[in-house]
Amino acid sequence: MLREHPWEEVARALELLKRRRPPLVDLLTFHGQVLEAQHQTIAEVNVGDLAAPEALERLRQGLPLAPPVALPVDWAATEALFWRLAPLMQARAGAPAGALAGSLKSGERSLVELVQDWLVGGEEVARASATYGLQEALLPFWLQASLRPSLEAVAARLEPLAEEAEWSRGFCPVCGSAPATSEHRGQETTAHRYLHCGLCGCRWRFRRGECPFCGNRDHHRLTLVYDEADKRCKLEACHACRRALKLIDNKDFFGLIPWLEDLGSPHLELIAAERGFSMAPTRPGEPEPGPAVTPGPSGGRERGEG
Ligand SMILES: [Zn+2]
Ligand SMILES: [Zn+2]
Repeated sequence: MLREHPWEEVARALELLKRRRPPLVDLLTFHGQVLEAQHQTIAEVNVGDLAAPEALERLRQGLPLAPPVALPVDWAATEALFWRLAPLMQARAGAPAGALAGSLKSGERSLVELVQDWLVGGEEVARASATYGLQEALLPFWLQASLRPSLEAVAARLEPLAEEAEWSRGFCPVCGSAPATSEHRGQETTAHRYLHCGLCGCRWRFRRGECPFCGNRDHHRLTLVYDEADKRCKLEACHACRRALKLIDNKDFFGLIPWLEDLGSPHLELIAAERGFSMAPTRPGEPEPGPAVTPGPSGGRERGEG
């Protein structure tokens, strides 16, 4: 979760990452600006109280707290962040982002409705992007970035309950989304594997040597792929469902911030695509897509995970 690390720590880690990955400086600078705005918002968010006994009961039944669209949202903080991010998005996408912002300012469109439509996988976001000539991924990113501190506030309250309920599903206990990254934390003998939700930021413990997407535990069909030059972030790939997930190694390394390592490793996404492993971000709360089928040429080193 963003709130686990003070902004100064994130900024320092970001500078180190830029030195490690010079070709990504422009991209990382952009994400750094988004993260800084999100950090400013975290302190302002209020999502009210969580009914802990009911939430705990749901978790014990293996049910996430609620689908994304039904989670409590601090709309004032979300809207404030959306507008805080607007100059960045306009600098990135130019006039189309300005035109969309204009339609929201004039009341022609509603930001809340746009966010809710995106959360249920509706078509309005794609339609609005097409209307203004915005690149397809920009508006979903902008909406998700704006919503993140609010959803994180819910996740921060639920995380200890998920631990208490010993939640160990392959999907997020808060919003039901598929995991976005995997992480090893702790000393070698006592290290645990955690999964991170890409939507609300919740982190939960999960078994090592098991694919969270399909439950495959056959170590011959689970592979770790990595770049020998930098093993901070690897790819966990499953040959059964052909999905892949980035693994951040906070066991052999120390103090890595998972979502920064994720931003700093697009080469792993290329390797996954080359080999026919799907890493396509799923819409929050949506059922998993069918497995990709085309195995591709190799790239990067590979070993079975035992
Ligand atoms: Zn979640
Ligand atoms: Zn699998």
